[in-house]
Amino acid sequence: MHDPEPSEPSTPICWFCGEPEVLEIFDIWVDGTYALETCCGALLERIGADMADDPAWARDLLRRLGAELLTGQRLRRVCDDTGTVTLLDCKLEVRPVSFRDAAAFVAAHHSHCGPPLMHRFSLGVWNGKRLMGVAMVGNPVARALMGRNLVEATRVCVRRDTERMLRDGCCSKLYAAAAHSAERAGHGKIITYLRADEEGTSIRAAGWVKEAVVPGRGWHSARRQRSNGNNAFVAKVRWSRTLRPKPKAPAVPPRAQPAALPDWTRIGDTGPGPLLGMLPG
Ligand SMILES: [Zn+2]
Repeated sequence: MHDPEPSEPSTPICWFCGEPEVLEIFDIWVDGTYALETCCGALLERIGADMADDPAWARDLLRRLGAELLTGQRLRRVCDDTGTVTLLDCKLEVRPVSFRDAAAFVAAHHSHCGPPLMHRFSLGVWNGKRLMGVAMVGNPVARALMGRNLVEATRVCVRRDTERMLRDGCCSKLYAAAAHSAERAGHGKIITYLRADEEGTSIRAAGWVKEAVVPGRGWHSARRQRSNGNNAFVAKVRWSRTLRPKPKAPAVPPRAQPAALPDWTRIGDTGPGPLLGMLPG
């Protein structure tokens, strides 16, 4: 099957102004906002309305206009949940962040806890150029849990001062990445505490499970005063993910490389047929 040949390869004429059509990205700013340049205001208005109607088309249009090349980011979609401004919503990226940067982020954005005093490592999640959230991972706060080769995500914090769509997936990305990094560092388990009234959808999506309910007073003993105010007396749920760190490398011969998978993009429309055929049912 072939699509019909494009009948007019040269610049199309704008339906609105009758001039050669101009539709380009004028600029993209660090906060994800962008501006288009068009031959006329009528076309700009029409494009804007179509983009608002069909976010998938909007994303594809911005890709065709080179938004990914210009920003060096992969687009997830175009975010338009305020109804007044459209934003580039990029694929999330997780990278390590310094203690200082993570602590500053927590101080600025965490709703009820200040930053911890130390960490083993911290991770940040970026949407485009914007740091959207951090996870700080350290030794377990409860003394009874020390010495068991486990670490605790002591703060997981996603900013709330941006459009809601930009933070979709940030939380579970942080929980998944924190577990992955802890595993690579050789830890057997990672834990964290959520308030009992939090649903835990994000953390569950990252493969963590509920492990225990911890009454607020039992966890924070009266002798160890904490500075997190009311939060210390809310019942919490301990969540965990069991990790399988690789044993510390003895001199094992390298494993043979697995056979290369076929490159589907060259096969065209047939897709991953042979692989699907191997799946049960
Ligand atoms: Zn025009």
